[in-house]
Amino acid sequence: MRALRRFTVRAQLPSGLAPLQTLATNLRWSWHPPTQDLFATLDGDAWDRAGHDPVRLLGEISSARFEELAKDADTVVTVRELADDLATYLDEPRWYQMEREDDPSLPAAVGYFSMEFGVSEVLPNYSGGLGVLAGDHLKAASDLGVPLIGVGLLYQSGYFRQSLSLDGWQLEHYPVLDPQGLPLQLLTDAGGAPVLVEVAMPGGRKLKARVWQAAVGRVPLLLLDSDIEENEPDLRSVTDRLYGGDQSHRIVQEILVGIGGVRAVRAFCAVTGHPEPEVFHTNEGHAGYLGLERIRELSERNGLSFDEAVAAVRAGTVFTTHTPVPAGIDRFPVDMVQHFFAAPRSDSEAGIDSVLLPGVPMDRVLALGAEDNPNMFNMAHMGLRLAQRANGVSRLHGAVSRGMFGRLWEGFDAGEVPIGSVTNGVHGSTWEAREVTALLGDAGFGATLSPREPVSDEMLWELRGALRSRLVAEVRRRVREAWLQRGASTPELSWTDHVFDPEVLTVGFARRVPTYKRLTLMLRDQDRLRDLLLDPHRPVQLVVAGKSHPADDGGKALIQEIVRFADDPAVRHRIVFLPDYDMSMARYLYWGCDVWLNNPLRPLEACGTSGMKSALNGGLNLSIRDGWWDELYDGANGWAIPTADGIEDPVKRDDLEANALYELLATQVAPAFYERTDGVPSRWVELVRHTLTTLRPQVQATRMVREYVEDWYAPAARAAARISGDDFGPAKELAAYRQRLNAAWSQLRITGVDASGLPDTPEVGAPMTVRAAVQLGGLSPEDVTVEAVVGRVGESDDLADTVTVAMEHVGEADGMGDRFESVVKLPHAGLTGYTVRVLPAHPLLAAPAELGKVVLA
Ligand SMILES: *Cc1c(COP(=O)(O)O)cnc(C)c1O
Repeated sequence: MRALRRFTVRAQLPSGLAPLQTLATNLRWSWHPPTQDLFATLDGDAWDRAGHDPVRLLGEISSARFEELAKDADTVVTVRELADDLATYLDEPRWYQMEREDDPSLPAAVGYFSMEFGVSEVLPNYSGGLGVLAGDHLKAASDLGVPLIGVGLLYQSGYFRQSLSLDGWQLEHYPVLDPQGLPLQLLTDAGGAPVLVEVAMPGGRKLKARVWQAAVGRVPLLLLDSDIEENEPDLRSVTDRLYGGDQSHRIVQEILVGIGGVRAVRAFCAVTGHPEPEVFHTNEGHAGYLGLERIRELSERNGLSFDEAVAAVRAGTVFTTHTPVPAGIDRFPVDMVQHFFAAPRSDSEAGIDSVLLPGVPMDRVLALGAEDNPNMFNMAHMGLRLAQRANGVSRLHGAVSRGMFGRLWEGFDAGEVPIGSVTNGVHGSTWEAREVTALLGDAGFGATLSPREPVSDEMLWELRGALRSRLVAEVRRRVREAWLQRGASTPELSWTDHVFDPEVLTVGFARRVPTYKRLTLMLRDQDRLRDLLLDPHRPVQLVVAGKSHPADDGGKALIQEIVRFADDPAVRHRIVFLPDYDMSMARYLYWGCDVWLNNPLRPLEACGTSGMKSALNGGLNLSIRDGWWDELYDGANGWAIPTADGIEDPVKRDDLEANALYELLATQVAPAFYERTDGVPSRWVELVRHTLTTLRPQVQATRMVREYVEDWYAPAARAAARISGDDFGPAKELAAYRQRLNAAWSQLRITGVDASGLPDTPEVGAPMTVRAAVQLGGLSPEDVTVEAVVGRVGESDDLADTVTVAMEHVGEADGMGDRFESVVKLPHAGLTGYTVRVLPAHPLLAAPAELGKVVLA
């Protein structure tokens, strides 16, 4: 008989073992090896049966075994010690608490919103890098004591599980998760009833969601779940799958995570007494509707107008963009937004309120997401318009984003577009093999390599060998399992015991399969790849993994190409495709691969984090200089695959770059790995040592979170406090100022510019007096900054390497407006040009370009 439904019953633990419940449900175990070891020793077989999931483990262990364990003094003491250790970790002042003593303006709490969170494989609520990054962000925040509240959705089936058909086609499975069997706790009110969050849906309906809490160390993660009886059947399935369904399904999910998410945070703070967030961080555009909900709150509770509320919301919002691929930007048809936010009307009256968000005018909502195409609503544009601070996720991605979104700041040079960058990091204790930490010490707090004893080449090499061997065993296990799933029978599979070799140079390539990541670049010249794999003296073995989005048949075809190549008996011992890439598999790959390969189409990889995780373990990156590798490759920590950036023809570009890849593998990578002195490849070990010494501290998520705190959350908290103080007086002031600007801006004109004071042949540093006459169109001189801009000019008269100098108001010119003047020292030799521009000036603006307004002479 098959069960109709499943649910999980939690074990009754003997009193001495009661703390196991907390140790199992707080996800800190997932980055705390001693707690993992405790679980493993409770019952080794059950631990394996439970897939190393502590909550499941407690359900697997028999009562008899628990009674036995409760009588074992060692076990009881270990349980108590680890529980005490966890309690200390959760309570003691950490980095953030020390910082906040010196700087009380640091926010009391930060809301961190994301569509996906990859905290651990036991909570499969992620599809790839974005989610795993969000998980690492929470974990590093916990380690640092940063008071984050994570907000997302709980999907019934997570993303999907991947397997392969016999002919190598991706198959998707959607096992249903039972929240009771996950490390989650329902948010309940004082009376013990589940808290339900509601958002309005068209037709007068209501979407309701309960709120699950995961404990990520010190950080609560709130996950909204619509699968409850209180919902009509179609609304129950809103949180069915991550990135599944059509656009209208997706927009409801985004409404729930953004608007419902803010409501969940309010309920959580009310019930638990947790401080309210002063800063809201939108991890990618998906959750951007949170800004609209906060506008609604401010207009309802504080009587602010839409513009005043926008000013207040912007001050406390940070927006992080994650994709430089225009097709990757989240957009919805305007009609659809209209449908869900306002009940559809026969004619679109200006000024009608949103039904979903009473008090919020619909035309203003739509304007926030406006883009070139008048029929589309752009979530990234809304993210940028509702956040005073925005960033990309590597230096290169920051620059690319400034170009990509530059249209929102028309008239400014790309370099002035107010989008910065914070390079992503990875959570060391999650991704580093424990042997590495044991040998080298913890790098999580930015400490550099400081081992207790000098680490010899032999020790490093031995470490790498141990990690590689563990990967090889895991590869064999997974290849065998994959073939059983594809329909092979056990007797046919003895060959899988000899797949891979613990002594052979091991290259890894694992990631989602969007086109720009070029999964099959390595297959460009199949003979050449075969030669590399089968080289009699310096062979390479290649492990490949990755999921394609279920709707992307192109991606599935790429996977099939790899699988077919790897199925060939001539090479199948040296190249494998492992189905179902997830965090549990990823770990073995990052530990064991000698080389981590990444060959995206530059500059489309915003950051990339898998290579960082490999580097933590002494893996060497072999990568196109894209994302993080563009800034952290130093010539001695791996290899840069030359990129054919300028080549327009994609086929030719792929050929060139694939060729460079083969060349590097054959002439640089393999020789360094196989040249041995007394059994040790000293050149290789030198590269490993350099990677561990220099890269390991830099790629830490704690470094990333500290940057967010210092350069983003702290200024945002200060701006939010300032603008909301005095009963939102400054917000009203700023909104009134923006209105004055809007009214006057089209009449503002620079009517005259001249310069004087230079000799015939000026030298660098010579003072030049620049004068301008400006008609301010009704604004006062204090409302604007008038700037002289001096720089190099080329053929096109475009200014480059500019220096800007604010000009002083020196009086009025008869009928010509106001006069401004400044002295500029000539910054460069060579052909020089200058101009004058007028910008808004207000003490509550974070950057001169912020409002996207400029008048050029
Ligand atoms: C780190 C990680 C990723 C992201 O890898 P990229 O290099 O950004 O492609 C994806 N999936 C899993 C399981 C990961 O751990």
